[in-house]
Amino acid sequence: MAVTVLEQASALTSVGAGIQLSPNAVRVLNWLGLEENLAAFGVLPESLVVRSYDGTSILETPLGAAAYDRFGAAYYHAHRADLLAALVETMGQEGVRLGARAVGIEQIGDSVSVSLADGSMVEGDVLIGADGIHSVVRKVLFDIEEPRFSGTTAWRGVIPAASVAAFDIPKTTSVWWGPNRSVVHYYVSGGREINWIGIVPADGDSVESWSATGRVEDVLREFAGWHPQILALIRATDQPFKWALHDREPLASWVDGRVALLGDAAHSMLPYHAQGAAQSIEDAWVLARCLADGPSDPEQALLRYQALRIERANWVQKFSRDAEQLFHMSDPEARRRRDEKLRQNQSAYPHGFPPGQERLYGYDAESAVT
Ligand SMILES: Cc1cc2nc3c(=O)[nH]c(=O)nc-3n(C[C@H](O)[C@H](O)[C@H](O)COP(=O)(O)OP(=O)(O)OC[C@H]3O[C@@H](n4cnc5c(N)ncnc54)[C@H](O)[C@@H]3O)c2cc1C
Repeated sequence: MAVTVLEQASALTSVGAGIQLSPNAVRVLNWLGLEENLAAFGVLPESLVVRSYDGTSILETPLGAAAYDRFGAAYYHAHRADLLAALVETMGQEGVRLGARAVGIEQIGDSVSVSLADGSMVEGDVLIGADGIHSVVRKVLFDIEEPRFSGTTAWRGVIPAASVAAFDIPKTTSVWWGPNRSVVHYYVSGGREINWIGIVPADGDSVESWSATGRVEDVLREFAGWHPQILALIRATDQPFKWALHDREPLASWVDGRVALLGDAAHSMLPYHAQGAAQSIEDAWVLARCLADGPSDPEQALLRYQALRIERANWVQKFSRDAEQLFHMSDPEARRRRDEKLRQNQSAYPHGFPPGQERLYGYDAESAVT
């Protein structure tokens, strides 16, 4: 099957940020041949540790070897640039057209044509709109609504791990919950760097961009009174970036004739469960298998892809939106009850993993399609 990837960017580059790759995504990346790359630059977190903003422990659930044993694939933290480089190295760039921005779509008979910003046209049997949260394909065929602004901003930075060595930060997925705010940090780049994300109420700025910047003083002000380790991570950051967080409402359908949506275009979600890219990766595997199984009837193949994927992706989208309230609870009594309940529940999980994690990480995209 010949594939053309139309990418608007003029080069394949990635933002300077980390990404959590849970076993449901790593399983697929391994099948694509990235196992050795991931082992080289990925960091295996020993556990997921949730603390209150002052450092009080709330919850610890297993990851590391326990996640591998339970789910059959590792949980990794990685730098996005390393992941992109490994994908390019392993899969090559054949069929990738850079500087190709799609602006229009037309379905005629058995083909779909895409018009590009430079005035040219590309024609194919099917079109997959994997064009992110601001998807043109979604807008033209499925939904004219703009993304929903969550009212929160994610600050983020990547720092040399050596700059906070005094804190002896363990190799965990470290999550901190404070009133109306949260922080997540973890090692990337084989352990040489730490990626942190701090989510706060937005100051009215709803611009969504991986390259918008801010000042360290502004971030420190947002986290005044937090544990010294969090303040040290922020202080060690040369240039913090900010990103206004948006998601989408679930769609009832991702397929129109020979066109289908995939990834954020279909189901962009808030980052609390670190699943946006993981869901895109699951989509891609299932879609490829559906098309390979039914090459003579691509419309049916796309409908099969949708039937196999939509319920799960829409659940993850809602699960992620609901998490904002859990992470950012502000009433002290409600926070106390939340923490108590989570600790009690913890002892009842047969394998140590909360049911949400079991459902997220246990998904096998190949089993789902066979
Ligand atoms: C703060 C933050 C932290 C996150 N952390 C995690 C995490 O730890 N783990 C995880 O799994 N997910 C995480 N995510 C989510 C993840 O980044 C996204 O879900 C993922 O990038 C979506 O992939 P995608 O390919 O669908 O869309 P995108 O990554 O947005 O890619 C879309 C591509 O389409 C191109 N494009 C767009 N429009 C056009 C056009 N008209 N013509 C041609 N090309 C076009 C774009 O240039 C881009 O390359 C996080 C998100 C945020 C905001």
